[in-house]
Amino acid sequence: MKNDALSVIAEKIKAAESVWLFPHVNPDGDALGSCAALCRGLRLMGKEAFVLVDEELPANLRFLDNGYCTVDCEKLPEPDICICVDCSSEDRFEKRAQAFYRGRLRICLDHHPARESAWDYNYIDPKEAATGQIIYALLAELGVGPDREIGEAIFAAITTDTGNFQYSNTQAKSHLIAAELYEWGVDCNKVSVAIYENVRLEKMMMQTKAMEGLKLIAGGRGALVSVSREILRETGAFMDEAEGLSKELRSIAGVEYAAVIKEYEREKIKVSLRAKSRGNVARIAEKLGGGGHVKAAGCTIKKPLREAEKLVEREMLAAIRELDEQ
Ligand code: 5GP
Ligand code: MN
Repeated sequence: MKNDALSVIAEKIKAAESVWLFPHVNPDGDALGSCAALCRGLRLMGKEAFVLVDEELPANLRFLDNGYCTVDCEKLPEPDICICVDCSSEDRFEKRAQAFYRGRLRICLDHHPARESAWDYNYIDPKEAATGQIIYALLAELGVGPDREIGEAIFAAITTDTGNFQYSNTQAKSHLIAAELYEWGVDCNKVSVAIYENVRLEKMMMQTKAMEGLKLIAGGRGALVSVSREILRETGAFMDEAEGLSKELRSIAGVEYAAVIKEYEREKIKVSLRAKSRGNVARIAEKLGGGGHVKAAGCTIKKPLREAEKLVEREMLAAIRELDEQ
C-alpha cells in the first residue's frame, strides 16, 4: 500500500480546526495511548480534538483519558478531519463508522497489515512495533512537544504493543523513542505500574477459573481456553479483563499456538490468537473471517461458544500440521 508522507498528513492537520480520533473497539494501550497522545498534541496546537469511543475504557488505561474520550458525538460540530488510529477497517469501529464519515477528510494511521485504502490520506506501516511510534513521528512533524503527558501516552502505546519490549516486533527504534521520553520527564515505572500492576481481584479470579478449563492439543503445542458468560457471572469480572490471558497461555512451555475464546454474547464469540515463534496466527484468523498480525491476531465468530471452540481447534490443528510439513 502506498503511504502519504507524514509531512503531508501534518500539513492537512495543521490546516484543520477540529479533529476526531477513532481507536478500534476493545481499545488496547496502543490504540488509546496513540489517541491520547495525538489528542493532547492537537489541543496544545489549539485545535478542537476528541477521541470517540464505543465503550468504557479498561480500568488500567483510564489514566490516559484526561478529558479526551467521549461516546457522544451528536453535540459536537462537524469535524474537519477524522482519523482512524491503530486500525484500518470500519469493522474495527463499526458503531462509529457513520460518525467517521462526517469528517471532510479521512486519514488512517496504523501498523496492521491493511487491504483496502478507503482514506484520503494514510500512513500504514506494519514494520512499526506500535502505532504510538507513528504518532511520535507525526507529532514531531507537527512541531508539538516535548510534553510529559504526551510522552506517557506514547510510552503506554509502545510498552503494551511490544509486550513490554519483549515481543519480536520490538525495534531498536522502540527503545530509542522510550529513551527520548525519559528526557520528556516521563516516569516509565509509574506508567508500567498503572498498566500492569493494577489488576482487579475479580479479573484474577476469572482468569484462574478459565485456566481450569485449559485444553491442550497436538501434544501440548496448542492451548485453548474459553471465557464463558457464566465464568464472568461467577467471578464478577468483565470480558475486557480476559486481555492478557492469551499471553499467559502462550507462555506455557511447549505451546506454539494459543487461543482465548470469549463469549461476548450467545452467538458473538471473539477469539484472541497468539503464536510464539514459528507459527502464524494471522492466517488462522483470516480463515475464520478476522485478521491481525503474525504473532497476534483475532476474529469474531457468530456461532455458539461450543461450535466456535471446535472451529478454532480445527484451524489450530491444521496450522500445527502445516508447521510440521515445512
Ligand atoms: P486481541 O487478541 O488483542 O484482541 O487482538 C490481537 C490483534 O488481532 C489485534 O491487534 C487485531 O489486529 C486483530 N484482531 C482481533 N480481533 C479481530 C477481529 O475481529 N477482526 C480483525 N480483522 N482483526 C482482529
Ligand atoms: Mn497497535
